[in-house]
Parts: sequence; C-alpha cells; structure tokens
Amino acid sequence: MAYVISSDCVSCGSCAGACPVSAIAQGDEHYEIDASSCIECGTCADTCPVGAISQG
Ligand code: SF4
Ligand code: SF4
Repeated sequence: MAYVISSDCVSCGSCAGACPVSAIAQGDEHYEIDASSCIECGTCADTCPVGAISQG
C-alpha cells in the first residue's frame, strides 16, 4: 500500500522535497501523496515533523 498523509499535516512541505519520485504535492486541505507514483520508500514518513504520514 502507498503511504498516506493525515489531517495532522501542517503543510510544512518537507516531505515533498524529500520524495525521490515527486509523488507529494499540496492538496486542497493538506499535502497529499499520489498513490500511483509512490514507491513506498518511507522517506517522507521519516521526514515529517508531526508524524502525519503512515503506510495506508
Ligand atoms: S513513501 Fe517514498 S515514494 Fe512514497 S510518497 Fe513517501 S517519499 Fe515518496
Ligand atoms: S512533512 Fe508532514 S507536516 Fe510537512 S507537508 Fe509533509 S505531511 Fe505535512
């Protein structure tokens, strides 16, 4: 399963810069992961300061 971003996201942008395949972008309410692009490396989850990213 791809990684997902929860509503805990504070839109800092750190995960988007860390993703090797540019699968993360700002969405309507918080940052979002494009599940079809995510290669499940886990880098974003390690980068998020508020623990908003987990494996879906
Ligand atoms: S798990 Fe890896 S590939 Fe998927 S969104 Fe996070 S950083 Fe990008
Ligand atoms: S690193 Fe965490 S808080 Fe920052 S934009 Fe990504 S999901 Fe949101």
